[in-house]
Amino acid sequence: MQSTQWIVASLVAACVSFPALPKSPVDGSLLNRIADQGFNHGEVVETAQYLADRIGGRMTNSPAMRTAEQWTQGRFKAWGLKNVRAEGYDFGRGWWIESSRVRMLTPRVLELRAIPIAWTPPTHGAIAAPVIVAPMRTEKDFADWKGKLSGKIVLVSWPAPLAEDLEAPFHRLDDASLAKYDRFKEPNYDPELDRKSVDRLLFRRRLDDFLAGEGAVAAATMSRSAVRLVHGEGYSYQVGMSPKLPQVELSSEDYRRIARLARQGEVKLEIDSNVHYEDADHHAYNIFADLPGKDAKAGYVMAGAHLDSWVAGDGAADNGVGSAIVMEAARILAAVGVQPRRTIRFVLWSGEEQGLIGSAAFIQQHLAHRPLPKDPEVAALGPYFGPPTYPLELLPGYRDLVGYFNVDNGSGKFRGIYAEGNFAAIPILKEWLAPFSSLGGAAVVAEPTGSTDHQMMSEIGLPAFQFVQDPLDYASTTHHTDADTFDHLRPDDIRQAAVIMATVLLDAANAETPLPGKPVPTQPSVTDPFQYKEPSRPQ
Ligand SMILES: [Zn+2]
Repeated sequence: MQSTQWIVASLVAACVSFPALPKSPVDGSLLNRIADQGFNHGEVVETAQYLADRIGGRMTNSPAMRTAEQWTQGRFKAWGLKNVRAEGYDFGRGWWIESSRVRMLTPRVLELRAIPIAWTPPTHGAIAAPVIVAPMRTEKDFADWKGKLSGKIVLVSWPAPLAEDLEAPFHRLDDASLAKYDRFKEPNYDPELDRKSVDRLLFRRRLDDFLAGEGAVAAATMSRSAVRLVHGEGYSYQVGMSPKLPQVELSSEDYRRIARLARQGEVKLEIDSNVHYEDADHHAYNIFADLPGKDAKAGYVMAGAHLDSWVAGDGAADNGVGSAIVMEAARILAAVGVQPRRTIRFVLWSGEEQGLIGSAAFIQQHLAHRPLPKDPEVAALGPYFGPPTYPLELLPGYRDLVGYFNVDNGSGKFRGIYAEGNFAAIPILKEWLAPFSSLGGAAVVAEPTGSTDHQMMSEIGLPAFQFVQDPLDYASTTHHTDADTFDHLRPDDIRQAAVIMATVLLDAANAETPLPGKPVPTQPSVTDPFQYKEPSRPQ
């Protein structure tokens, strides 16, 4: 109790010491009621635990994700949110792992740490075959292995030696590291860079075709992590695009051991991949809930996180916790009984892990259209893959969204917010976060951050932001791995995050004038039109 009183007292003290605060639309007593509701009556820890422990990993369109779609809507309704709904969009197949086992049979019997790669087919019982180590990175490498792969389990990754890890596996941001985020890097437009991620995705598909055409029986990749962590990420979720071969990811220690033994003689593996496709409904769903505003013409502000996860762990830090924080902000604001000027909308995205598919579908349905890429192969990858295309066609709903706030950087407490190059918003965000300096959450940093659901909203000019969070062990341990479990969350951190999220949403909903957006983007000019590319070195 004592420490809580101290926090509330600190919040009041912080209010007094910041002269900018009187302009804030959230008056002090309301702020303190939000803090009291979040710190003393919070449910965010239980929400995160249910998503992680009870429902578990939530691959888009998997049975667990369907359960999560229902359960989260039930919670929103129980807390008194309105217009709770699921909005569908065309995604692709569901997929899940019932059981899987990979063993080395020769030169000795050994159970390996491995996981089937998402959306790869089942083995229909155990299959056993000798391995061949055949690292391939581009289509040019196929020629080296033609005619050598029939009847083999092909190890397609290069067995990179164990890297020396110089970063601490767990850390919080100090003032110096926060200051580093507050340096705006000017945008650099290089059309060739944009193409690289598309090429990587297309290569995976061509590799599968090549291996199947050569008569290989299965493929194995090496985990990019050490300490026997595995991920199982795969991207062939679209109908008609499922891989032909069963594929597993081996822990890096197991993969290197096999690669060493294969230098000395035959290594035989056994793979039993008991996985299932789900084809009853190819739509994925984003979940929405509203706290209706008093002024229907004033637009809405929105908070979001992705509910889907990867397959290996429980999706606790990525991003059950973010979903729980968004849900808790909704619960807090409903519980304190606020009636905001603008509607506050809460969204739990799907399809984020496959390329921000859920938020891209929302943009397509409500905000703006982009022309399809000219290359039909890139266009077939789905909306918004590849370089941005122009001109943007704005939909009537574009002007209604006057602020979007995302959370998806693991389970650390909020340290502030990324301003995403929205210079005009910086002083306003600073004012809104000022009460939270005593909780370490008041930094507004210029740097943009990407790879999650606010990104494309920011890219079409809307005031869309993501919170800065303490990294904890996200990068070293939990991100997309089988160690992404509830015990890596910190209850104090996520209560703090929910209180800040609720307050900022109310600030944005009640602000006199909406947050400034950026100009609607048009085709950028190439940053350095005279540069020559360095030829690649022989490997
Ligand atoms: Zn995520």
